[in-house]
Amino acid sequence: MALLEIKKAGDPVLKQHCEEIKKIDKRIKKLIDDMAETMYASEGVGIAAPQVGIPIRLVVIDVEKKRYDMINPVITYREGSVVDSEGCLSCPNLFGDVERAEKVRVKFTTKYHKEKELEAEGLLARCIQHELDHLEGRLFIDIAKNITKGKVNRDNPET
Ligand code: ZN
Repeated sequence: MALLEIKKAGDPVLKQHCEEIKKIDKRIKKLIDDMAETMYASEGVGIAAPQVGIPIRLVVIDVEKKRYDMINPVITYREGSVVDSEGCLSCPNLFGDVERAEKVRVKFTTKYHKEKELEAEGLLARCIQHELDHLEGRLFIDIAKNITKGKVNRDNPET
């Protein structure tokens, strides 16, 4: 495995619409492992492929010790609305309030070529919406209110 360089806000790769993954091959599986390692090393709870410079539809999330590798994820259902603090590995030490759906359902393919659907709420739902925004070239600082400089901690994780 290898640590990857995390691209920071201002890098054009973070503004791109990401391509669908057509073939889940060794290269994709290695990228998933490297993205996970990079995320854990930065103490993030989620990471999207464009954040390591590759504009494809792949995200890795680890919330409450459960890891999700999502290939071509699509949100199929949203419910409610909640405002909470968010941060991003591509925008170090910045936090802001973002309105997100309270609950989401997401459909994705696993690295074992299985179609899965997952219902999420709380931090996991927020993280899914944040990472999927990355796949559309959208950063949380584009939509956040009350952006402040802060310290990363358990209550303030970066994604
Ligand atoms: Zn992010």
